[in-house]
Amino acid sequence: MKNVVFWGTRGSLPVALTANDVRQKIIAALTAANGKTFRNSGALNEFIDTLPFATRGTFGGHSSCVEIVSGGHEHIICDMGSGARPLGQSKIATYGAPNPQTYHIFISHLHWDHLMGFPYFTPMYLPGNRIIIHGCHPHIEAAFRLQMTAPCFPVDYSQAGAKIEFDVMTPGQTQYIAGVNVTPKLQLHAGDSYGYRFDSIDRSVVYSTDSEHKLESKEEHEGFVKFFAKADLVIFDAMYSLAEAVSVKADWGHSSNMVGVELCQAAKAKRLALFHHETMNDDNQLSRLLAETRRLEEITRHDHNPLEVISAYDGLTVAL
Ligand SMILES: [Zn+2]
Ligand SMILES: [Zn+2]
Repeated sequence: MKNVVFWGTRGSLPVALTANDVRQKIIAALTAANGKTFRNSGALNEFIDTLPFATRGTFGGHSSCVEIVSGGHEHIICDMGSGARPLGQSKIATYGAPNPQTYHIFISHLHWDHLMGFPYFTPMYLPGNRIIIHGCHPHIEAAFRLQMTAPCFPVDYSQAGAKIEFDVMTPGQTQYIAGVNVTPKLQLHAGDSYGYRFDSIDRSVVYSTDSEHKLESKEEHEGFVKFFAKADLVIFDAMYSLAEAVSVKADWGHSSNMVGVELCQAAKAKRLALFHHETMNDDNQLSRLLAETRRLEEITRHDHNPLEVISAYDGLTVAL
């Protein structure tokens, strides 16, 4: 496995920047420029790189969709949130049509924010493409058909040009798919969700979203430490801050930045990506959450190896 590309990182519902949000970023950038002049676009770009991420960028708004670039001929994707639309466009731009491709899509669960991008995933309309949807919910095919049934959507599921297959996996059982060993794990969430661990010869990635953790249970703690063990990257549901997760939002089916740090440290994982961002949090709040999480990692490090903490954003590519 080579890279992980984040196409959608927002939890529960896609969000967009407003005109006022953009204006605030422009004001912050011009204030920081403080009358400076720039010789060319190179100098301008250098200056932009010095600005905080919340000023020069945005975490983005598409719901969950993550691509694992294996380096092989077949594509590996986690979830079909609204980020599946730009992902599909990028594949069409790269491969053109007709140029049949095989897409392996791993579905964490059947909540709408994880499926809603599928009807906008252009490769599904192109004859010759093969799409294999892997998941652990026995009624996964029914859910995919349902969201493309009148009156919910104008195009019926039967209009798909690609060959679509479903593969119901068993939690804890490893399957060799697209050159990678894939192991699903049951997670605590309304209607159940599943995390996936991807192992190639020299790299491991864990995709674990929409998962609440009850770490007071020794068995549960040990199970996730094993699942995350020595992973190069753990993509983790950090929808809430610790304070929210233990108070008002306990039992809401999501986890926090702190739990992610604790599990990754115990598992000796190398990198933690905060993911499934709370819909209500703007770029400043998400930046603060990242800074707090990094600080927390430092003060709880003790004899652990440093854990690199990043916050996923739409368009981010992480080299493994
Ligand atoms: Zn979700
Ligand atoms: Zn969910």
